[in-house]
Amino acid sequence: MKICNICPRHCRVDRKNESGFCGEKEEIRIAKVIDNFMWEEPCFTTKKGVVAIFFSGCNLKCSYCQNHEISSGGVGEIYSTENFISLLKEKEKTADYFDFITPSHFTSAILKALEKYTPKVPIIWNSSAYESVEELKKLDKYISVYLLDFKYADNNLGARLSHVKNYFEIAQKVVEFCAKKADVFKGEYMQSGLIIRHLVLPGEVKNSLAVLDFLKKNHSNRHLSLMSQFTPTLKSPIKRKLTALEYKIVAKHFLDNFEKGYLQDFDSASDAFIPKFN
Ligand code: SF4
Repeated sequence: MKICNICPRHCRVDRKNESGFCGEKEEIRIAKVIDNFMWEEPCFTTKKGVVAIFFSGCNLKCSYCQNHEISSGGVGEIYSTENFISLLKEKEKTADYFDFITPSHFTSAILKALEKYTPKVPIIWNSSAYESVEELKKLDKYISVYLLDFKYADNNLGARLSHVKNYFEIAQKVVEFCAKKADVFKGEYMQSGLIIRHLVLPGEVKNSLAVLDFLKKNHSNRHLSLMSQFTPTLKSPIKRKLTALEYKIVAKHFLDNFEKGYLQDFDSASDAFIPKFN
């Protein structure tokens, strides 16, 4: 962490004293913990459900981010390794899963905690797929489910909306690594495996079709989760919601090409899906 290279941004800052693009120093900072978080895929919606841990900061910081307060707004509370372990111990009593949301810039600190204490319930690694395979390899034995948001097949779009020129190449490698995790279900509930999400952005149907084409070619046997929920926030450069026609085109391509997965209802674009962080 003296020269931070733990994600593909390669900021090379000393995170003991300063932060890089993600905006975070080396200690874990958490913006919010939500018990019984009901907004993940049905295969996680057990009675006890998911404890969602929203990590502060982000190594991608998409300009249209729905959770802007946590990715760039500086909200959150620092957790020492011991405090993070205490949180896991307390929350696992009432949960069937931990959902680590946007954790990729805290891999070192999370690994340190998980080496000392491994929770008894599966951990879901809920990320943007813009991260380091080398870091994931170190964490892999502690992670049960990879829930990856595959955002762009078009690097120009990634550059315009998420300030990265190589999103597609990085995300391909990450999905390839995570696809080594076999899908295991207990009844209808996933215990380990991979789900690849894709959020359809207004005006970017072509990108969505290209993402689906890539996934069909390389990972057609995995679960896909197509999402329609984009809601513009005040700071978003995308000022409108998805149209019914845009979603219909992408959803048809999804249904024509994939056998396993989840399709969000079109009317899911509501700010009710955005947790409040204050
Ligand atoms: S984790 Fe943060 S500081 Fe480290 S390389 Fe990524 S964005 Fe930069």
